[in-house]
Amino acid sequence: MKPIIGITTSMEIDQTQYTTNQRNVRAIIRAGGLPMMLPYVLDDMDLAQIAQQIDGLYATGGDDIDPTLFGEEPHPKLGPIIPKRDQFEIELMKKMLDMDKPILGVCRGSQTLNIAAGGDMYQDIYAQMESELLQHSQRAPREHGSHYVDILGNSLLYQLVGQKKIRVNSYHHQANRDVSENYQISALASDGVVEAIESKENTFVLGVQWHPEAMNDEASDKIYLGFIEACKQDV
Ligand code: MN
Repeated sequence: MKPIIGITTSMEIDQTQYTTNQRNVRAIIRAGGLPMMLPYVLDDMDLAQIAQQIDGLYATGGDDIDPTLFGEEPHPKLGPIIPKRDQFEIELMKKMLDMDKPILGVCRGSQTLNIAAGGDMYQDIYAQMESELLQHSQRAPREHGSHYVDILGNSLLYQLVGQKKIRVNSYHHQANRDVSENYQISALASDGVVEAIESKENTFVLGVQWHPEAMNDEASDKIYLGFIEACKQDV
C-alpha cells in the first residue's frame, strides 16, 4: 500500500474552487505517495479523523498568512490571505505533530509550520528586514535555481540532500522570523533569510521556503523521496 499524502489546497479570494498546482501532485506520485487533496475542514473531530487517515501532510505554497495568528496587524505590503486555509492548516498540523506523523511544508507551508508551533514571520521581508536582500521573487523560469542556500550540517535536510550548498528557486516575499523553540533552522540564504526549518522533536517535519516541486534536480527528488519514505513507517 502506498502512503496517503494529504495535499493542502489554495483558493482565490471570494472564489469557491479548491486548487493545487499539478506539480505538487506529480511530485508526490513520483516519490511513491498516493496524493489526496484536502478542502478546508474546520470541525475539530473531522480534523482529527483526517489526521488519522493520512500518513503524511504536504503543505503547499500559496497566499500570505493572517498576521493576527502571530500577534500582529496587517502590514501595508501584506498580500492576499485566506483565513480559513490558515486555520485549517494550522489545526491539522497540530494534530499531525501530536501523532508524530510526517509533514513537508513548502513556501507558505514552512511558515504555517512555524506559526503552528508559536513562531513568527516577516509579513514582507523587503520592508521589514534590515539587511540588503537578494531577489526572492525571481523573474526566471520556475525550475531555475536563482539563489544559493547554505544547509546546516546537523540537520534532517542535510541528511536528505547530502550537500551543504544548493541552488533553489525563490517565490516569496515573506519568511520565518523567530523560529519556534520546537524547531531549528536548517538552511539560510546568504542575506540571512531563513530558507528551511525542521522540528527538533518530531521524526520528519521539514519546511522549505523554495518550491522543490518545480525544480527538476536531484536535491528536490531526495526531499520528496525522504518524505514519502518517512510516511511509509505507519502504513
Ligand atoms: Mn528565497
